[in-house]
Amino acid sequence: MTLEFPFDPLKRSEEVENQVTSGDKRLYYRFRAAPYYGGIATADAVGCSFLCAYCWNYNRNLHPERFQQFYSPQQVADKLLHIAQKKSFRLFRISGAEPILGEKTFTHLIEVLRLINLSKPDSLFILETNGFFLGYQTDLLNKFREFPNLKVRICLKGIDHNSFEHMTGAQNDFFRFPLTALKELEKLGVRTWPALMGDLFSREEINEFEKLLEESGIHSQLELEYLEAYPFVLDNMRKRKIRC
Ligand code: SF4
Repeated sequence: MTLEFPFDPLKRSEEVENQVTSGDKRLYYRFRAAPYYGGIATADAVGCSFLCAYCWNYNRNLHPERFQQFYSPQQVADKLLHIAQKKSFRLFRISGAEPILGEKTFTHLIEVLRLINLSKPDSLFILETNGFFLGYQTDLLNKFREFPNLKVRICLKGIDHNSFEHMTGAQNDFFRFPLTALKELEKLGVRTWPALMGDLFSREEINEFEKLLEESGIHSQLELEYLEAYPFVLDNMRKRKIRC
């Protein structure tokens, strides 16, 4: 797939979704017990609507076609439940990629959620998403109300149009889509919160951004996360001329 920066993330989402799905199956490359949130069963997928300079899974998301193993929702749920049982975890997530690229991946995710909920009603699924497609197609959000054991963490990539384009590689017109997703989720009463890479912005910029969130009708507290400074991440940041 040819990719020129900045790209149209809607077009990219569609193309990537076609690469990483086959029927109701999606490409994953690993299932693991991860230490985050105090211990969480994690399915690592490939394929994203963005291509963030600081993505720890950059090369896999740049070349999802290198992976071959498609998993059905039942297979994903079984693997995650097995890890959770072995490690006495109650938390679950999909990582490494964007879980929702379009309607096919959304349906796959909902089925994984349903199966985990059915087998383990005391579970908590933390949906880590860039919020892009959810902000584009807000009618999907209603479905989340069926899952009280779901929390949605929307990872925001920039504090304004320019930083959004610079970090994600996606055209800056799409900056507001994740904010729309957050606002609508809050309105629906779905548990959600925004996260931002804290070490890429000054305290003043973050304060201003918090004001923008509030003015946009987003009231949940902003979480600051910190960069995983792998050498290839620093190299990608240098190439995009991002200071860190
Ligand atoms: S949105 Fe997340 S998974 Fe996608 S490229 Fe950015 S950091 Fe990687």
